[in-house]
Amino acid sequence: MANEQVLTAQQVIDKAREYLSAEHIQFIERAYEYAENAHKEQYRKSGEPYIIHPIQVAGILVDLEMDPSTIAGGFLHDVVEDTDVTLQDLKEHFNEEVAMLVDGVTKLGKIKYKSQEEQQAENHRKMFVAMAQDIRVILIKLADRLHNMRTLKHLPQEKQRRISNETLEIFAPLAHRLGISKIKWELEDTALRYLNPQQYYRIVNLMKRKRAEREEYLDEVVNEVKDRVSEVNIKAEFSGRPKHIYSIYRKMVLQNKQFNEIYDLLAVRILVDSIKDCYAVLGIIHTCWKPMPGRFKDYIAMPKPNMYQSLHTTVIGPKGDPLEVQIRTVEMHEIAEYGIAAHWAYKEGKESAEPTEEAVFQKKLSWFREILEFQNESTDAEEFMESLKIDLFSDMVFVFTPKGDVIELPSGSVPIDFSYRIHSEIGNKTIGAKVNGKMVTLDHKLKTGDIIEILTSKHSYGPSQDWVKLAQTSQAKHKIRQFFKKQRREENVEKGRELVEKEIKNLEFDVKDILTAENLQKVADKFNFSNEEDMYAAVGYNGITALQVANRLTEKERKQRDQEEQEKTVQEVTVESKPYHGKKREAGVRVKGIDNLLVRLSKCCNPVPGDSIVGFITKGRGVSVHREDCPNVKTGEAQERLIPVEWEHEQPAQNRKEYNVEIEILGYDRRGLLNEVLQAVNETKTNISSVSGKSDRNKVATIHMAIFIQNINHLHKVVERIKQIKDIYSVRRFIN
Ligand code: MN
Repeated sequence: MANEQVLTAQQVIDKAREYLSAEHIQFIERAYEYAENAHKEQYRKSGEPYIIHPIQVAGILVDLEMDPSTIAGGFLHDVVEDTDVTLQDLKEHFNEEVAMLVDGVTKLGKIKYKSQEEQQAENHRKMFVAMAQDIRVILIKLADRLHNMRTLKHLPQEKQRRISNETLEIFAPLAHRLGISKIKWELEDTALRYLNPQQYYRIVNLMKRKRAEREEYLDEVVNEVKDRVSEVNIKAEFSGRPKHIYSIYRKMVLQNKQFNEIYDLLAVRILVDSIKDCYAVLGIIHTCWKPMPGRFKDYIAMPKPNMYQSLHTTVIGPKGDPLEVQIRTVEMHEIAEYGIAAHWAYKEGKESAEPTEEAVFQKKLSWFREILEFQNESTDAEEFMESLKIDLFSDMVFVFTPKGDVIELPSGSVPIDFSYRIHSEIGNKTIGAKVNGKMVTLDHKLKTGDIIEILTSKHSYGPSQDWVKLAQTSQAKHKIRQFFKKQRREENVEKGRELVEKEIKNLEFDVKDILTAENLQKVADKFNFSNEEDMYAAVGYNGITALQVANRLTEKERKQRDQEEQEKTVQEVTVESKPYHGKKREAGVRVKGIDNLLVRLSKCCNPVPGDSIVGFITKGRGVSVHREDCPNVKTGEAQERLIPVEWEHEQPAQNRKEYNVEIEILGYDRRGLLNEVLQAVNETKTNISSVSGKSDRNKVATIHMAIFIQNINHLHKVVERIKQIKDIYSVRRFIN
């Protein structure tokens, strides 16, 4: 193993002394002492004192030349999780920054990784970054994981495998994404050792056996190039590239190759001082040996998304075998090994002042700006976008399915977005949602880490129109719209046709006389619909009212009739009241045993508190509440879709809700009747939203009135008052 040497705290601090000021050394010493005291009498599975672990973690961070707060964070990373120390304590003894870093690491430790699908692994990685907020939290976490991997042998086999899997699928790719190949390689190799020990040791042995051969070969190559390079005054450092086992393993498995077939086994790395020298050395290499076509890669002109820069080429080497050569500057090499950490490396002395928060932020910004600048040159757009997303995660939330899969959604997403992301069928059948075990409304904003459970009903045939507005994702919006377009169109046409026919009957015309193909096409044209079906559909989804259509359809006939009936006393009247600014109208109804279902009062029978009511699961518009005696819910098919509902408790008078009720009043058609009715209703302090009246040939006046009612007693009062008026035959609630 690369690094099984156990460092003492003193060694770590001495190493830090190479780049930190005395004051900062004091600061991290204090962090170490505090951690040692907190972990006193705790032991690891290996039997060692616990503090050995944080010391090694801090040691790895010192290797990366991290800033004092991050080193302190390394020493202290487990105290909040494993001891009585609180974040507040850390704030008081150290500073906000250290507390924030430790808090971040503690939070990341709580994410449980279960699934092994590639998509899921990617989402977990993203969630990690999103939750970390500060990239240094991830660096501490990587150091923590690296040391845990180094000491994995002390754990039971099953745990070794689980942790190794997680390392391979989450942590190593994160290290790669951040360009820290040193950590990435060690994580991968160690994980492989536990996941596939047979292959691991086989490769190790093969490499050992080839070592002498390799070294001899390297000497031969170096000798041949060295003189030519110094002839042109270039200072170059040659090395045989150390191979890491996991990459050989992957090539053997994925490309189904024999050990001997893997070119990279024979690789030379050349470090020079400047970019110009890189290309000069490349030229020399290409004149010494014939380059293999298609194997030259210029990652200097086009860096990888993780900032990696180097020239790669493969030539036919001295023995006629392919030989891979990497040429880069010393600086590029540092980035290749340490990635983002190299950028983060804390260079005291180079910067005049203490790195303020602002300076750190600027540094981070410049890192991402550099990545951005590569965009134009990046050959692999997808890879580039992936790497960039790390910084864009603030716009995302990551939530769990009950099975533990992670779903990525834009921030502000609601359960509807989640259910459509799972499957459009789930979306369409959604009737409610639980977040972390609690019922929520469908407009509840999801947070990273939430566990979402969607409640569906097979009786629900589809979404509600409002969902388009609630949903945040274009995917959900699109699917909801698609649903309405496809599945509701027929339904809307049918519904629209019925409503129009009903209005025509209300206007006392014969449907057959009015609905001629010719008349329908004429009216459709007037409303700018291409045909009658489109017009009916629009009525069905309330784009236009049935009355508007019926009025147009019967325009000619109504004029004729008006002339005939001019001697009538009560003319056709329609009074729209002034806009009503009453209390907000909500259903005030609850589905028994289930909270927060989408509930609305039906428009056909307009129930009010006190009425016996029943819920009816509609096609996509939640639960519609009807009066128990409403004829619209009494058909046999509908019976299966009924669910019990109840009124919420009566509220104090001042915030009582009001309900729309339609009543129909029949009376003898005489002068002044309508006026008296309006006055009577007014006396009961009841608001009227609309009134219409007409009379027939038999002198029967029909007054249709929509009023706002608080409860059944209120309604009784109004009805009783109207009945007292002379010449009134009947007053009844109207059911559409
Ligand atoms: Mn730890």
